[in-house]
Amino acid sequence: MKRLPIGVKFFGVFALILACMVALSTGAWHDVETVRQAVVDLRQGPFRAVEAGLSAQRDFLQLRVLLAEHKDPDLPHMKQRLETVRRSLDLFMHSSTDGTMRTHAEHAARLLLEWELVATEGGHDREHRLDQLSAMIQSDIDANVKGAQADSDTAVADVEHVVGNAAAIIAAMSACTIALGLFAGLLVNDVLRHLSDAVGHARRIASGDLGKVIQVKRLDEPGQLLAALESMRSELKAQQDALERLATTDTLTGLPNRRRLEEACSIQMARVKRHGERLSVVMIDVDKFKSVNDTYGHQVGDQILQHVAVVLDETVRESDFVGRWGGEEFMILCPATKLDDACVVAEKVRAAIEAHEFPVVGTKTASFGVAELAAGEPLEHAVERADAALYTAKENGRNRVEVAPRARDRALPSA
Ligand code: GH3
Ligand code: MG
Ligand code: MG
Repeated sequence: MKRLPIGVKFFGVFALILACMVALSTGAWHDVETVRQAVVDLRQGPFRAVEAGLSAQRDFLQLRVLLAEHKDPDLPHMKQRLETVRRSLDLFMHSSTDGTMRTHAEHAARLLLEWELVATEGGHDREHRLDQLSAMIQSDIDANVKGAQADSDTAVADVEHVVGNAAAIIAAMSACTIALGLFAGLLVNDVLRHLSDAVGHARRIASGDLGKVIQVKRLDEPGQLLAALESMRSELKAQQDALERLATTDTLTGLPNRRRLEEACSIQMARVKRHGERLSVVMIDVDKFKSVNDTYGHQVGDQILQHVAVVLDETVRESDFVGRWGGEEFMILCPATKLDDACVVAEKVRAAIEAHEFPVVGTKTASFGVAELAAGEPLEHAVERADAALYTAKENGRNRVEVAPRARDRALPSA
């Protein structure tokens, strides 16, 4: 999922939920339409049939009462009542959707005609026959009313079912809307969180802090942004390192240059101040170097310097720091080293240079001045004392190590 672009994720889920909502709303609309139609059908069908059946029942009952009270079939009231019962039965027949009920209604209508005939003509068993016919008519109408009521109950149950469906669909649509809202919220929150991370990284890069690697754990758009920032950071870091190397490396010998040596001096001075460590410095100057240039040319002179650099690099200890001080002069910084040990280092290097087979010139020597930093002494002073010892080595015949006299220890300047 983290590999999928956010756009695809968002529009995918959005389209899916939208499609669900369209499908659901179509279903809901269809259900609403069904309910509306069902209500219309109920009104025109079962409800009206029940109403017609009930009024036929009531009107026929009144007709029977009227006849029983007046015994006169020519009463205008009776004709009127008969007409009403007939109309109700007629209405029932038209409203009824069920064939059996229609048959009952037709039967009742036919019996009513007979009833009217008996009521009008009379005869010796008039009352008895009227009772019989009345009972049959009542039974037909009763059956109709019951059937119509059952029909309307079924129709109402159908409507209730459809209404229940529509309610479920509306609930599902609400759930979809909430899901969509939640999804959009989470997505926006996720994007904002990563954007704010990216802003933090970009600010750090802008401030020049290129050391911390930016972790990229996803491949979507925020991940791509972080990856782009990381590649920018590492590229800048590589360029910065290259520039740093260029600025602090001597191009001829590949050794640290004077600037780097001075940086190393301040780092060592900080250690001396913090931990009270000892520190010695060895200054080296190639003997009679000018004559190499004069005799064999500058190119040979350069080659000699490169060879001296290799010998120095190979001979000094891991813990020592060697660099080109300038011209044909080199320096070795010996951390945590007292004067005697620094002299041992210098002597080892001197012997190695003396023994080295240089191109064109064959052999070459160098002179050494060694000094140990006194407590509270600035490093420049120790370097000056080593330089002075080097001068003495030159005066005393070159190719030798001279030790600078110890400087008087002083109290450390307060930080
Ligand atoms: P000493 O024994 O007293 O040190 O004598 P020296 O000739 O070595 O000393 P001097 O200071 O007279 O000469 C140093 C020479 O080193 C002069 C300069 O032209 C040469 N030099 C300095 N830097 C370079 C460099 O990078 N390449 C070459 N080829 N020569 C250099
Ligand atoms: Mg010199
Ligand atoms: Mg020299």
